[in-house]
Amino acid sequence: VAASIEVTDPRSGVVIGEIPVGDAASARQAVTQAAEAWPAWAALEQSDRCSFLRDGAEALEAELDSLVSIESKETGQAQDFVRGAISAAIDNWRHFATAAEGYDREPLASGGYIHRRSLGVAALIVPWNFPLLIAFRFLPGMLAVGNTVVWKPSERTPLSAIRAMEILEGVLPSGVATLLLGDGRAGRPLVEDDRVKLVALTGSTATGRFVAEESARRLRPVLLELGGKDAVIVDRDVDIEWAARLVADGCFTNTGQICTSIERVYVHRDIVEPFTDALVAIAEADWALIPEGGPMGPMIDRAQRDIVTRHIEDAVSQGAIVRTGGPGTDLPGAYLPPTVLSNVTHDMEVMRQETFGPVAPIMAFDTREQAFALAEDSDYGLSLSVLSSDEAMFSRAESADVGTVWLNTWHSYADGAIHQPGRSSGSGAVGWRGRQFLDAVSAPTFFGDPARDRDH
Ligand code: NDP
Repeated sequence: VAASIEVTDPRSGVVIGEIPVGDAASARQAVTQAAEAWPAWAALEQSDRCSFLRDGAEALEAELDSLVSIESKETGQAQDFVRGAISAAIDNWRHFATAAEGYDREPLASGGYIHRRSLGVAALIVPWNFPLLIAFRFLPGMLAVGNTVVWKPSERTPLSAIRAMEILEGVLPSGVATLLLGDGRAGRPLVEDDRVKLVALTGSTATGRFVAEESARRLRPVLLELGGKDAVIVDRDVDIEWAARLVADGCFTNTGQICTSIERVYVHRDIVEPFTDALVAIAEADWALIPEGGPMGPMIDRAQRDIVTRHIEDAVSQGAIVRTGGPGTDLPGAYLPPTVLSNVTHDMEVMRQETFGPVAPIMAFDTREQAFALAEDSDYGLSLSVLSSDEAMFSRAESADVGTVWLNTWHSYADGAIHQPGRSSGSGAVGWRGRQFLDAVSAPTFFGDPARDRDH
């Protein structure tokens, strides 16, 4: 049995680090550490916890360059891209330091107040596509309300988390945040531990079901952001060049490895041919691979690339046409060029399963209802983008079973927005900052009005 897991650079396949595989004993120990640290952390004044968060932001910011360099190596993403993601991640520490001030006590106009308390030990299970951004979407808010956290990074990208924890250990009280290294062999016993009172997972639907089942048994809340198969509807009245650029961003940013990447493209039949030509031209001109002088990084590893290759090959075997890209590059590492497919149908894996790669499969539609029927014919429901100038299209989008609808845009976020995934894409208010997130990681207790009760 292997005692360690190698971490590789996806650009070259070269080994850049090694971590333990993890086991039940290491998970148990991490939870014990978090459980022991919890009472003192929860007993602090809210404002004291907020000052720790501010110190955390400062300490992380001082080491931004080293975090960027490590995360860029383990994900294969360009340094500028990583810098943007980690800067936003660090900003979350400041955001929650401010948002949580006074949060624990909410007076009610009709008497009494709501006190919000921590849940206890929270498990934070993070994937590899944005290692620190996703971790810090949750960690500072969980800490702000008084939880302690066991943070399990993905086995593919643990190095930035290791560095971040070294930095945070100099700031946070011992045991308040604990890193648990390893793969599912560490993640599984973490989720099975009765002392864990909340689990937040960003990852696959299969792992999400496991977390949900284990948590249902324990009547424990979960925050699950899982797979997606997000659609875009491109109406006939749009500027074709503009729409093709926006769809290219949605399909190819981070090599298609974003939970809300666009994975299905429905285009009005009147413009489907010129739109497809425009998307192909943009893919070839603006989305070349890094070794060929373009901006597009590799996939996280060859195993993920094999999934994407299988989806493309399944589509082609059933009649899809590769308009550009496709598997077969002989570059080192895990590269796969931006790929545009036409002539696809809903029987193909590329339209049904999460592809999580740089693929734009295009289908034509004739009517608004047909466009929405296609978009809604999916097991998943993270987001939907609608590109149109027809108000009726936007109204129709209000009944779609998805957590987020983007009108004439893709991937725009706002503080306080809630992104509650639909269908098999997850559950819980996995919002972006904001009060709803704090509500999701704490528990309310109502206190009756002491002034009124005194008379009885
Ligand atoms: P996983 O769900 O396997 O991994 C996500 C996290 O969960 C990782 O930290 C992983 O650890 C951990 N994990 C795995 N098994 C268990 C378990 N039984 N109990 C607790 N934790 C566990 O996703 P993958 O990384 O394998 O990616 C597979 C697919 O998931 C992708 O192709 C994509 O479709 C989807 N995905 C979606 C993401 C999103 O943003 N919504 C992000 C990443 C993936 P470890 O990796 O160390 O095994």
